[in-house]
Amino acid sequence: MMSSLASALQHDQLINALKHYQEIFWYPPEIKECEHGLNGVGLRRADIEDAELRLTRFAPYLAKVFTELEASHGRIESEMVSIPNMQKHACATLNLPTTGQWWLKKDSHLPISGSIKARGGIYEVLAHAEKLALEAGLLQPDDDYTIFDSAPFRQFFAQHQIAVGSTGNLGLSIGIMSAKLGFRVSVHMSADARQWKKDKLRSLGVNVVEYASDYGVAVEQGRKAAENDPLCFFIDDENSKTLFLGYAVAGLRLKQQLNDHQIKVDAAHPLFVYLPCGVGGGPGGVSFGLKHAFGEHVHCIFAEPTHSPCMLLGVYTGLHDQISVQDIGLDNHTAADGLAVGRASGFVGRAMQDLIDAYVTVSDAQLFQFIQLLNQTENIQLEPSAIAGLLGIGHVLQNQDYQRVQQLSDSQLKNATHLIWATGGGMVPSDEMAKYLSMHS
Ligand SMILES: *Cc1c(COP(=O)(O)O)cnc(C)c1O
Repeated sequence: MMSSLASALQHDQLINALKHYQEIFWYPPEIKECEHGLNGVGLRRADIEDAELRLTRFAPYLAKVFTELEASHGRIESEMVSIPNMQKHACATLNLPTTGQWWLKKDSHLPISGSIKARGGIYEVLAHAEKLALEAGLLQPDDDYTIFDSAPFRQFFAQHQIAVGSTGNLGLSIGIMSAKLGFRVSVHMSADARQWKKDKLRSLGVNVVEYASDYGVAVEQGRKAAENDPLCFFIDDENSKTLFLGYAVAGLRLKQQLNDHQIKVDAAHPLFVYLPCGVGGGPGGVSFGLKHAFGEHVHCIFAEPTHSPCMLLGVYTGLHDQISVQDIGLDNHTAADGLAVGRASGFVGRAMQDLIDAYVTVSDAQLFQFIQLLNQTENIQLEPSAIAGLLGIGHVLQNQDYQRVQQLSDSQLKNATHLIWATGGGMVPSDEMAKYLSMHS
């Protein structure tokens, strides 16, 4: 970062609050038209539909190789559940009005890898495998994709390598999927990555490379290692449009799911979606799909730890990936390992900033309090990252200036659906989960 800018930022109130690890809520002072925002992304609805079709082609293969996908015929999707007890208790704790309905989207319990990364990560591995197989003449476009589960395919993929840098969950999803197809895989793990995630990957034959530093360094090293090997494909979490589209499928699919639950989304019934944000691909991609599905009636709010507010910092300063949380003196240390990212994606903030309502930051202590409350009131277990969005509800319900900017009336707020996108926890070992649920910070 340029030092003239550094000194300009020194006197900025919001930056000062961030520097002091304060929990804040920030939103752009005026809204942009949804159409305009969507046109600025550089990807179209047809790209999301194309991703959905690719997942459909692979579904028979996925159902064959993952027993947990048999029942859904190879479709990787999570349920959404209403959380009335959590709503009641959280509203009492946070002193909030109990208007609207709270729901939880359980990407935390997605099959295969137990986090939102089972969308983008698996999708990108499948897209790469399909491309290689088509180019090699092993696969014809109208083949039955169960042939991916065969010795010739596995032998072919064994000549190829996939590499990725991760704080844990992306590595898990990419490692599991790549190993299943027969690829050689290297996962470059940041210091935040939990031991059980590394153990799990090693048990599948994945090459886990550990770093003492944060996510940005793990990605950089992974990228470098991949450059030296022409048969190695590096999955670039900081820039990948393929990952983004894998996530976006979720946003489009939500329309049907809300219909199934008889939840209306229209001018009188707004939908608020709260998404934990790391590098930005997951929440950005999901929001892109949501905006295509619901237009201006969906409000997307991103949530980050107070120690790692990289997306907020990038969008607020307009510097995006040219600034890191370390540049303003933050340590990027958080128990929300899925969100421990110091520098945002170079693509998501620029592409999505006109479509995101607001950004909220949350302390680790608050995250632990929330996962414990959710466990007590609804018997649902999440990892700390996964609940980060919840604090956003408080701001949406209480910040009158935000409501004015978004032109939200009392009656709209009364009819609103609040969907907390829970992003991880389904694979956390029980002893580790017990620690989360008894943690006092
Ligand atoms: C990765 C992750 C996120 C955020 O996704 P990004 O693409 O990094 O923004 C949120 N929650 C959990 C549990 C994650 O693993």
